[in-house]
Order: sequence, then C-alpha cells, then structure tokens
Amino acid sequence: MDDDIPYLLLTPGPLTTTRTVREAMLRDYSTWDVDYNSLVNDVRGQLTRLASASDDFTTVLMQGSGTFAVEATIGSVIPPDGCLLVVNNGAYGKRILLIAQRLKIDTIEATFAETELPDVEVIDTLLNKHPNVTHVAMVHCETTTGMLNPAAEVGACVKRYGKVFILDAMSSFGGMEMSMESMSADYLISSANKCIQGVPGFGFVICNRSELERTPGWARSLSLDLYDQWQTMEAGGGKWRYTSPTHVVRAFAQALSELKVEGGVAAREQRYTTNQRRLVAGMRELGFQTLLPDALHSPIITSFLFPSDSFDFSQFYDKLKARRFVIYPGKVTNADTFRIGTIGNVHPADIDQLLAAIAEVTREMGVKL
Ligand SMILES: *Cc1c(COP(=O)(O)O)cnc(C)c1O
Repeated sequence: MDDDIPYLLLTPGPLTTTRTVREAMLRDYSTWDVDYNSLVNDVRGQLTRLASASDDFTTVLMQGSGTFAVEATIGSVIPPDGCLLVVNNGAYGKRILLIAQRLKIDTIEATFAETELPDVEVIDTLLNKHPNVTHVAMVHCETTTGMLNPAAEVGACVKRYGKVFILDAMSSFGGMEMSMESMSADYLISSANKCIQGVPGFGFVICNRSELERTPGWARSLSLDLYDQWQTMEAGGGKWRYTSPTHVVRAFAQALSELKVEGGVAAREQRYTTNQRRLVAGMRELGFQTLLPDALHSPIITSFLFPSDSFDFSQFYDKLKARRFVIYPGKVTNADTFRIGTIGNVHPADIDQLLAAIAEVTREMGVKL
C-alpha cells in the first residue's frame, strides 16, 4: 500500500489507483485543443484494440458514471419500435430494466435469483416465443454478488436469433480476458474507474460500427445520444459534445499505459485471481463463508455471509477502516452479506495484511466464527 493513501479501497470502484495515475491529473487542458483531442482518440483506439483486433468496432466515450454510459446505450441503439430482453440476476441487471422502463422501451424480463446462474435455455425459449425482441442486454460480472454470468453462451444464443447483444462488462472489462467476438457483443460497456484502474468521470461503449451506423435519430436523450457523440468524436478528431472530464481522461491514458506495463489484461486477470483466491482461502480459514460456490465466482468481488444474525457490520467496517482497509456493504436481497473487492492497485501482500486485520478485528469484537 502506498504511504500517501489513507486507506485501501477493496470496493467495486472507484478503486485504489496508483500515485502516477493520480499525478497525471496535475495538468489542465482545453477541450478544444488538438493535444487533448488526439489523446482522446488514442484512448478510444486503445480501448477498441483491447476488445478486438478487427476494424468492425469503434469506441465512444461518454461523460458521467458507468450508469450514464449504460443509459446512453440503451436509450440510443434500440429503435422506437424495438423490444429489449433483459437478463436480470442482480442489482445491475435490474438497473438496465429500470433504465429501459423509464425510457418507455418495450421490455421482456428473463429474471433469475441473485444466487442463480442465468439459464441459457430459458433465454432461448423466450427469444423463440417473442420474435419482436430486437436487442438483448445482460451483465457480465454481476457486481451485486460477484457472480460471473455466462456471457459468451448467452451471446451465442442471441446471435442464433439474429438479435443485437448489449453487454454490461462494467466491472470486468480490463480485468478479465474477453473480446467482442468471444462474447458475440455488439455493444460492450465499461467505465474509467473499474479494472482499467482510472478515476471516475466517464464511461465508454465499444460498438459494432455497422450496428451503430443504423442508429441516428433513435436517441431518447440529447446529452446521452451515443450516435451524436460518436459522430462528433469522429468528425472532430477526438472532440466531445459538451465539457469533457479532461483530467480524468489524462489519468485514464496513464492507467492504460500502466495496464500495458503490467503485461496486459492477462497479467491483470492473473493478479486479481490470485487476490481473490487468497482472500477466499484466508476468510474460510478464519471461519467466514462465501455466498456463492467457487464455480460461480469472478475474480472481481466476493460476497461473504454475516457470521451470525447479531454481526455488527458497521463496527466491523469502522475497525477495518481504522486499520486502513475499506470494504463494501452487501447488496443481495435475501441474505446478510458484505463484499470485498479484489480489483484496483491491490496486490496479494495487501490481501495478507487485510486477513490479519480481519482476524484482529473479529477477535476484538468477540465474533464467533
Ligand atoms: C459499477 C457498475 C455499474 C455502473 O455503476 P456507476 O455507479 O454508475 O458507475 C454498472 N454495472 C455494473 C455491473 C457495475 O459493476
């Protein structure tokens, strides 16, 4: 852990960044300046290449948190008479559904329990039964639980029916190997403050160019118009519509170069996987239980069950924070849980220190494990 940070964020983002990423923000840019615009286009190109070697894809950056990029996509790429099938097994799947409903887009739900893997056969049956579906959306790593959803299988099914596939890979892109081709994704959404390890301020959508070209005029919002944003970025050599998060983009460019130095996405996935396995092994040794079985876990974040009904999470949280570790509350509906993220500038030695702190804190609290 760097000495200059008050605590380590073991969260699903914003997460702990490197000092060099934070230092990259110590410079002002004009959004109209060619230096900045070429940085933007370089970032767009690098993101596209992280997702595909093919020229069939292009990347659009969008101001705001990750949800704004999801809303921009859902609101822009579905035609006025389109219908969206939403795969929902957690808070982020549910959020996609809420976005579509708020925008008065016709939806069909494929809902599963939060601790249940989405069943491709159920999705197949729904697509068969509802030929009016034009688009399918799902979350890759459901950050609610830490579950890794079967995106490649669902994507292949969506393509058998000739539909457009929108993947919210917010919490996994850059931290797990994937491609547009392997996921059969037409739109893949993520944001600056997740596994690329930048700071919050914008999201990005990697788009199938020929699909995106079909969408002018479909957007249900002006500022979240994905097509217009794309056109401006293409025509203006990296210009955004409206004020862009200039400092955040510069930090993000630094984060991308640090991803390369680390050895790319494969090396990062390895580090996150080591972090997560070490965390789970250590927590089980202490007597904690995970919400999900190992086969369903992503390397991104893990949900742990409260050890008893009387477990005082806020005391546990405060005591860990005093020892420089910030964890995350749970989000599942039917169980008392807390979450620990294993992404960001977090290394196996940090996990060992966290486990020692948890052992100390549970002893101090008299928690029976
Ligand atoms: C973080 C996250 C989002 C976006 O959340 P914001 O708070 O808007 O950044 C969306 N989907 C998933 C799966 C996420 O993990």
